[in-house]
Amino acid sequence: MPRSPTRPPRRRTRCAVLAVAISLGAPAVSGYQLVRGPEFVWAPELRPVGYWVANAGNHWLTADQVVTETRAAFDTWQESDAMGLSLTYRGKTNQRPFDFFDATNTVGFSTRERMSQLGLSEVTLAVTSWLSVIGRGVIAEADILVNPAYNWTDVVDSGFWDLRATLVHEAGHFLGLGHSGVGRVGDTGLVAGSSIMWPYTFGRGSSRGRMLTADDVTGAAVLYPGPGAHTGRIGGVVHRASGALVRYAHVVAYEPLRDLTVGAWADGEGNYEIAGLPDGQYLLRVNPIPAHHSDGAYFFPYGRVDRNFSVTVVAQLVLVSNGQATEVNIEVLP
Ligand SMILES: [Zn+2]
Repeated sequence: MPRSPTRPPRRRTRCAVLAVAISLGAPAVSGYQLVRGPEFVWAPELRPVGYWVANAGNHWLTADQVVTETRAAFDTWQESDAMGLSLTYRGKTNQRPFDFFDATNTVGFSTRERMSQLGLSEVTLAVTSWLSVIGRGVIAEADILVNPAYNWTDVVDSGFWDLRATLVHEAGHFLGLGHSGVGRVGDTGLVAGSSIMWPYTFGRGSSRGRMLTADDVTGAAVLYPGPGAHTGRIGGVVHRASGALVRYAHVVAYEPLRDLTVGAWADGEGNYEIAGLPDGQYLLRVNPIPAHHSDGAYFFPYGRVDRNFSVTVVAQLVLVSNGQATEVNIEVLP
């Protein structure tokens, strides 16, 4: 299995989306990344959303161990009352992940042969697919496929690949989230404080990916607001001094008193919105996508991302009050 010490294998390098009705031309608009905006959510008539686990273990884990880890991963997203969608374990199934149109949202190991058939990279740890309803653009089915080639474990910080951590990330995709730009990269790779929906993993042997950050929870709450969800938002356009719009910039709001960091992506016209924010005074920062990340890692159209600007911090704190929206247009440094 090819691995690089400086660039860990991606958790998920592509969205294997069976897009019956949706084109890939309209990617993320809002924070933490909503892949197709706030309407790309589970069909209301399918809620609470059930999921099954493929009745197949492998050399590393039994099917029952996979059940335990899968349930823990899905439950992680339901711990906060900011997220209002219920996810229910329905049992083991003889269906397999990426058997489509079976109305069974299946999580589990695939085989290397099957991954090859599907055209999936062998360095990918796991992949989530969505099936959406024609004309409505809502999610009707989703599967999570796990690459059997890694040495998986259910033991914390064991030195092997933590299945639960990977499934927490994939469960975020299952909800409809894309990839976040809130990552903190140190000398040894990704470090604490990084979003679980960052496109790359914390690495083999780390169980850090079991813990959601505020950025992750906010993304899920924007898609499925629960009783604890916040309604404040900051939005506007990202532009240059010339007035030219900046496409697919990453905008991060930081609230120092709460130590809260939530990010969002501008769209192809420079519009950004960070929703789901509690009241507070926010520091705003804009950065291009990391130089070594591909446009595709964030589902942006290839070659359309503006990277040639400097990290910019907005000079004044931005006030969000009474759960209202605050407009801030941001001029980036060249
Ligand atoms: Zn991913």
